Amino acid sequence: MYVDSHCHLSFPELAKDLPGVLERMRANKVIGALNVCTTLEEFPAVLAVAEQHSHIVASVGVHPDSQDCEEPTIDRLVALADHPKVVAIGESGLDYFRLQEPLEWQRDRFRTHIRAARRCGKPLIIHTRASSDDTIRVMKEEGAQEAGGVMHCFTESLAVAEAAMALGFYISFSGIVTFKNARELQEVARAVPLDRLLIETDSPYLAPVPFRGKSNEPGFVPKVAEKVAALKNLSVEEVAARSTENFFKLFKVFEPISTE
Ligand SMILES: [Zn+2]
Ligand SMILES: [Zn+2]
Repeated sequence: MYVDSHCHLSFPELAKDLPGVLERMRANKVIGALNVCTTLEEFPAVLAVAEQHSHIVASVGVHPDSQDCEEPTIDRLVALADHPKVVAIGESGLDYFRLQEPLEWQRDRFRTHIRAARRCGKPLIIHTRASSDDTIRVMKEEGAQEAGGVMHCFTESLAVAEAAMALGFYISFSGIVTFKNARELQEVARAVPLDRLLIETDSPYLAPVPFRGKSNEPGFVPKVAEKVAALKNLSVEEVAARSTENFFKLFKVFEPISTE
């Protein structure tokens, strides 16, 4: 049994065939998923999927790349997170890949999320791209270890993974780890201990091999587990069981999410 720790079921590619997406999850033994929020405008749709399906949970947060949208405050995030199906704050973080400095607003937005997570006691979903030094620095400055969380769709070096794990964070691998040119990341996956590891699709993006180029969906997350298992010389059952257990522990979803 697998859990997809990060997907975007409210994005049009997945929303247009949600019953089919959920059916293929069930057929592939994917027993649950975390539907991740990227803007406050999107949040009602993100939460609605979680409210309508017992095996889907939600987050609330604003992605570092989201512009021309409502800027979150600590109070607003804490208020929206006060719902039994909202299990995390994010996705938030820093992304210097697409946008140019000055990006103080991005760092301020990230600080707001960390403060909200600390206040409401829910873990963080952290997105970091081309910004790992600043991401770790802001996490330390804001006491992110008090909230804990996950470095999602991890593509950084082992040193960055170790810095995040030292703050109590989990490392989540996506379909990128299955790509042929992802040698360095595959070494990181080998090194991250099983009790710190999560798997995700980040769908509808980044479909794993052999679905590369197609629209991604939570039902493909077993391909990530298979690759991690092969890299670690473990059975896929063990990687599935341990990553699922980590998911329940981190997001305090104690009841195994039931398939319907
Ligand atoms: Zn992300
Ligand atoms: Zn995402």
